[in-house]
Amino acid sequence: MADEHDHEHAHDHEQDEATAAPKVVGEEPDLSKGTARPITVVGNPVLHRETRTVTAFDADLSALIDDMFQSMYAAEGVGLAANQIGVDAKVFVYDCPDDEGVRHIGHVVNPVLEDLPSARRVLDDSPEGCLSVPTAYMELARPDFAAVTGQDKDGNPVRVEGSGFFARCLQHETDHLYGYLYIDRLSKRDRKDALRQMAEGTPRYATVPNE
Ligand SMILES: [Zn+2]
Repeated sequence: MADEHDHEHAHDHEQDEATAAPKVVGEEPDLSKGTARPITVVGNPVLHRETRTVTAFDADLSALIDDMFQSMYAAEGVGLAANQIGVDAKVFVYDCPDDEGVRHIGHVVNPVLEDLPSARRVLDDSPEGCLSVPTAYMELARPDFAAVTGQDKDGNPVRVEGSGFFARCLQHETDHLYGYLYIDRLSKRDRKDALRQMAEGTPRYATVPNE
């Protein structure tokens, strides 16, 4: 997920952050490990089909997660799915604020989005962006709460939940691993607008050219 999200929210919490260090849920990755890789963009087949379930919780998986964090930070994103660096595997990473100014950091392997009881479905229609649709932003209504179950890199079960912008991120990244981009959830007209924005902009990070 791209980073130009909630400048209003960031502004809301400016004062809190000036007086207290922002709360962090999760652990910052070791940035001495891993290498940033270029980002795949809409049209690349790896983004448009369901990725493979991870079955090997080994050193390769750890190395992939290291590369994913590096790639996400290099592109100034707040979330990244493995197929966004061309890898066909169900893994995403995130370093994303929620609407209360809490910073969430982590990874989920084989994520599955929990169904929400309809009573909890409050839609939020903030703007959304994606590193794989560079320079485009469109409003998209999504539930303002989400929970994902899956595994960590060692195969232990994990559950991650969040609200506000972080809920959006969890939904967005899980969608990626099932072959969906946020623009696939837009009206035809909004999708066209997003693709036009992308055509007119220049990404500030390395991308994989489409054939
Ligand atoms: Zn994305």
